[in-house]
Amino acid sequence: MIPYGKQDIQQSDIDAVVEVLTSDFLTQGPKVPAFESAVADKVGAGHALAVNSATSALHIACLALGLREGDWLWTTPITFVASANCGLYCGAQVDFVDIDPKTYNISVSGLKEKLEQANSENRLPKVLVVVHLCGQPCEMQEIKALADEYGVKIIEDASHAIGGKYKNNYIGNSCYSDITVFSFHPVKIITSAEGGMALTNSDKLAWRMSLLRSHGITRDPSQMTQDPDGPWYYQQVDLGFNYRMTELQAALGLSQLERLDEYVTKRHALAKRYDELLKDLPITRPYQHVDSYSGLHLYVIRLKRNELSVSHGEVFESLRAQGIGVNLHYIPVHTQPYYRQFGFKAEDFPEAISYYQEAISLPMYPTLSKGEQNEVVESLRKALRL
Ligand SMILES: *Cc1c(COP(=O)(O)O)cnc(C)c1O
Repeated sequence: MIPYGKQDIQQSDIDAVVEVLTSDFLTQGPKVPAFESAVADKVGAGHALAVNSATSALHIACLALGLREGDWLWTTPITFVASANCGLYCGAQVDFVDIDPKTYNISVSGLKEKLEQANSENRLPKVLVVVHLCGQPCEMQEIKALADEYGVKIIEDASHAIGGKYKNNYIGNSCYSDITVFSFHPVKIITSAEGGMALTNSDKLAWRMSLLRSHGITRDPSQMTQDPDGPWYYQQVDLGFNYRMTELQAALGLSQLERLDEYVTKRHALAKRYDELLKDLPITRPYQHVDSYSGLHLYVIRLKRNELSVSHGEVFESLRAQGIGVNLHYIPVHTQPYYRQFGFKAEDFPEAISYYQEAISLPMYPTLSKGEQNEVVESLRKALRL
């Protein structure tokens, strides 16, 4: 089976992890802060907080922004459930803005309309989670202008997008948002096994997130309510979690980070080759916004259903049967049973539904060979019955 995504582990990664295993610290040693500064330096962010997953990063990002019961979080329906669940973790309510039919990211015009409406009804969201789907950045300048106008905080869910650029700057610099989140799950661009990171330029948000990732405990006397009782002293000043990243994960992430640009370059070469090989087929190839350089986590095609005699499901099944591990990113979140209970109907976000009826993620990872890529294209031709 040729999977849709796959990590690349080299000897240097193994050596980095083994070195930590035989060192004094398995958790909370020097590697975690080293990984944090390396990522912050790479993308140009003021602060980076490593955690055990992007899901955890989204949770503490929402909490740090003050999201709680009575508030609203908005996001896109075409994302992994974690981008929405973080709102529910905080007791907030979740709503969605439909996608742009071209980029598949959150629609800027849809956002503008919905904000105007919400403003008139006095139910503006506190937090907007935008998702750089497939690694292609959202239109952040326009989104930030709207968010500023209505006093909405922005989290960039950049789980797909490390190594990509928006207007020539690395995604993660958080110039157009309050906090950016990366995922280092093995299918993503670089991996730390499980792992995530929250980046921000705000000292205050960084401080709050650092408390929240470790029980709400501080050892910094300037943050305590009284002078320390002694050198052993710490204070719990908030209710936090254990969302810490281990030294093993950080060592792997740090080692992988060295190959970040190489990985994204390889993904672009593969995408260019797919574009060429697929250009005569009745499908829509990914659109690349002129303002951006995608991290290219995913290569999503859309079937032109009216030009085909086979259904989306049949194409998908045929590809799997031929050993091509295609996937579908994503089932619209508002159609999940857990979200239906809040009253959402499929047709509430028609562009998301139409995307869902046509999208297929083809294999895309840096070690995918040309031969394998040809096999994917051949199998797709067969599946489309051309
Ligand atoms: C993978 C992913 C997440 C969750 O990442 P984890 O590190 O597995 O928690 C969140 N949002 C999006 C868009 C993702 O693709």
